[in-house]
Amino acid sequence: AKQTGPDGLSFFSEDMNQRAVDRLNLEAGLRRAIDRDELLLHYQPKVSIETGAIIGAEALVRWRHPERGLVPPAEFVPVAEESGLIVHVSNWVLEAACRQIRQWMDEGLPAMHIAVNLSARDFSSSLPARVQELLERHKIGAEWLELEITEGMLMHHTAKVVAMMDEITALGVALSLDDFGTGYSSLSYLKRFPIDTLKIDRSFVISIPDDVDDCAIAGAIVSMSKQLKHNVIAEGVESGDQLAFLKSLGCDEIQGYLFSPPVPAETFAAMVREGKRL
Ligand code: C2E
Ligand code: CA
Ligand code: CA
Ligand code: CA
Repeated sequence: AKQTGPDGLSFFSEDMNQRAVDRLNLEAGLRRAIDRDELLLHYQPKVSIETGAIIGAEALVRWRHPERGLVPPAEFVPVAEESGLIVHVSNWVLEAACRQIRQWMDEGLPAMHIAVNLSARDFSSSLPARVQELLERHKIGAEWLELEITEGMLMHHTAKVVAMMDEITALGVALSLDDFGTGYSSLSYLKRFPIDTLKIDRSFVISIPDDVDDCAIAGAIVSMSKQLKHNVIAEGVESGDQLAFLKSLGCDEIQGYLFSPPVPAETFAAMVREGKRL
């Protein structure tokens, strides 16, 4: 904890000092990681409940650390978001995902949504032009790309944000609203934003069908999505019971360990080619 010395100046305790040092190391390390191409993407399939077929994937970043092995995003994305480094991470992720899409197109994989996660800082007025540039330079069809954004990004500068989202969807790129239900409770924005898909957060999926409250919340999100003509996907689906309940609600798609964890690109492509089904 922060402590105050006899002269009134505050100083950091050993513990906090150590954390500050760890953080600087992490930041410096992440900068190097981007330069040295130590980041990589895994892909987690998204599956249609109705047909059982793979309809896309979410790209999830990992850091292949020279000493620590594969580092999960929870250990570096939040720090990158606070320091602003996330913009570089996101650029790397967008670039890598588009390169991968190009390769899959060349290999004849059928078109499907590959979703990239964005952070609040990425959501600036230059985003539509960046997305367009990526699509043109990699010569990829816009139907391949999807962007996952979170509720928090939609709360400010509404008119500007709507205009930006309209520009992105006009390119043919789909937008999905991630971690739905965990952010602001004002739902009025839902009809204002050009959203294709609502993504039910894992925290509501984890205890269904046992927890009546979570069942009610999942049910409400699905029926609201239907009425607003949005697609709805549940994340973090691990059991057949969860799947059966979501199916009974009319949920469109699922993503979760029940079907597959995030996997390397080649493994994902192999699942698609083999026609792996739910
Ligand atoms: P998220 O966007 O909500 O991604 C879903 C997370 O849930 C992933 O964790 C995924 O591996 C995990 N997951 C999927 N199915 C299951 C399941 O059935 N059970 C359980 N327990 N977990 C499941 P991951 O890959 O560790 O990513 C964590 C978070 O890091 C993501 O949450 C996202 O917020 C962030 N993240 C990941 N990649 C990126 C990226 O490229 N850019 C940005 N800005 N954030 C990223
Ligand atoms: Ca996501
Ligand atoms: Ca999510
Ligand atoms: Ca989540």
